[in-house]
Amino acid sequence: MTELPGIVIAGASGRMGQMLIRSVMESDKMRLVGALERPGHDWVGQDVGVAMGGAALGAQVFDDPLEPMARAQAVIDFTAPEATIALSKIAAQARAAHIIGTTGMTDEQIAQLEPAARHCPIVRAGNMSLGVNLLVQLTKQVAAALDEDFDIEVIEAHHHHKVDAPSGTALMLGEAAAAGRGVDLAQVRDAARDGITGARTRGDIGFSVVRGGDIVGEHEVLFAGAGERIVLRHMATDRALFAKGALRAALWAQDKVPGEYDMLDVLGLKR
Ligand code: NAD
Repeated sequence: MTELPGIVIAGASGRMGQMLIRSVMESDKMRLVGALERPGHDWVGQDVGVAMGGAALGAQVFDDPLEPMARAQAVIDFTAPEATIALSKIAAQARAAHIIGTTGMTDEQIAQLEPAARHCPIVRAGNMSLGVNLLVQLTKQVAAALDEDFDIEVIEAHHHHKVDAPSGTALMLGEAAAAGRGVDLAQVRDAARDGITGARTRGDIGFSVVRGGDIVGEHEVLFAGAGERIVLRHMATDRALFAKGALRAALWAQDKVPGEYDMLDVLGLKR
């Protein structure tokens, strides 16, 4: 019998990390071979189940990725940009798929993943849910159908711990709207309105950010015209949704050639 793919979860103690560990343990298609935390974290060296306050799971928390990655076919990584870049080099050495949920990466940081993608498949998505990825495609279609008489605004809301803004998902939606219109988002992005801003520039894509409480993630794309508005909206009510997508990506990547992929590839939604 062939062995199930071995999975490492990076950012073990994080909101997503703990959700991912539970999801891998519940899956009959993969096995947990280890977890990662940053050096100095008090979970390092412990069994990850015990660290989470439950029964031992037979998988340890490491601060050095080398040992668990040697036994892994994929690493699922919802951490922070610098950690993700460092881990990409180890995943490449191990020829393990790198599933990246980390957001807030700059274009320069994203470019630093390229060398690793020559040696292993990388699936990176600012949002791993099926619903949001459908929303991305719908946004592109609606933006392509409407001209600049419709102002496009992306509105997002998240919990008060979130450290980056606009969210990775909001930027994905902005990119989709820009692609639909045939423009470069960097040229039309309007993400910081405060004070006497002057009137809205025709063709801009605006971003608004709400931070509060325990909001898991809400995204709205507004197409505001004269006398009518179209609103596309997604609301995530449970983080398990993102974990489910990440696990699906880890399995999907098992037979893929090295390269950079996203959730549209995984879900078969690419056009
Ligand atoms: P969090 O702060 O709760 O967890 C991040 C974890 O990463 C922490 O436990 C931290 O100690 C750990 N970490 C930092 N540096 C590390 C390193 N060098 N090695 C190992 N672990 C390290 O945050 P969160 O809410 O779980 O979100 C994590 C990331 O995932 C954020 O960028 C967030 O925006 C993103 N996210 C993406 C999706 C998606 O679908 N793509 C969904 C939710 C969250």
